[in-house]
Amino acid sequence: MKEKNGNGHKNGSSNGNAQMMFSPLHSHGIELDVEETLSQPIVVAGAMTLQENWLEHIHTQTNTPDVHEQTEVVTGDAVQFEKIERAIHDLLDAFNVNWQDPNYTETPERVAKAYLKYWANGYGRLPENEITVFPNSSGSGDLVMVKDMQFYSTCSHHLAPFKGMGAIAYLPGDSLLGLSKLGRILDIYARRFQLQERIGAQVADKIMELIRPQGVMVVLYDVEHMCMSSRGVQMHAANTTTMATRGAFKHSAELRAEVLSLLK
Ligand code: ZN
Repeated sequence: MKEKNGNGHKNGSSNGNAQMMFSPLHSHGIELDVEETLSQPIVVAGAMTLQENWLEHIHTQTNTPDVHEQTEVVTGDAVQFEKIERAIHDLLDAFNVNWQDPNYTETPERVAKAYLKYWANGYGRLPENEITVFPNSSGSGDLVMVKDMQFYSTCSHHLAPFKGMGAIAYLPGDSLLGLSKLGRILDIYARRFQLQERIGAQVADKIMELIRPQGVMVVLYDVEHMCMSSRGVQMHAANTTTMATRGAFKHSAELRAEVLSLLK
C-alpha cells in the first residue's frame, strides 16, 4: 500500500483538482458496518473488523451476468475509493463550491466512505455468506412469510435514494431459510444502484437458487423514490409497489392473493 498524503484536500484550494490529494482507503479505517444498517444485529461471515485487508474478504464479487444484466463489482480497494472520492469532488467542483468552506473540504472522502460502507455495500456481500439453511424436517409445505422489512436503496437512473418495505413469502421444499435471513438477502440486493423491480427479481431468484422452494413471492411496497417525490407537486405521495413471483406463485392467483391479504 502506497502512503499518500491523506490531508491534501483539507488544505482547501479554489482551483479544485490540482490540489486534490486522495487518501488510500485503509487510512480511513473503513469498516463494512452492516450492523448499523439493519435493525437486527448480524454477524457477517469472516471479515468485519477490518482495519486492513477487509476488502480481500469481499473483493471481486462479480455478479454473474444474468437476465438483470447487473455486472457491477466492488473492489473496495484504494483505487476504487479514490475514483469515488474524485468523482464527488468533481461534482461539487462543477458547482464552484468554495473549497475553503469546511463544510466541503472533507465531503468527497466522506461520501466515498458512505457509498462503500452503506449505500452500495451490497456489492461486497454474498447472500451465501449471510444465511442459514435448515432442513424442513416437519415436511410442511405451508406458506412462510416475513413482512415489514425496511430497505434502503439508490436508484440507478438518478442516483437518488429510495426506501420502502419488503415482504418475502415462500412455499418450502426440502429446506427452510432462517427467518431473519430473509431481510438480509433483501438488504444485500437493495444496497446497490438499483431499480425497485430488479431488487425483487434478484431476491426471488436468489431464494429459488439457495433453497429450491416450490415458489417465492417478493413484494416491495410503500416505496418512496426521492427522484419522484422531490419533484412534481402531485407526486409527493407517490408510493410504488412491485411484485416478483417464481414457481407456484407465478401460476396461482390464489397464492398471490393470500400473500397480499397478509400484507393488509
Ligand atoms: Zn430514479
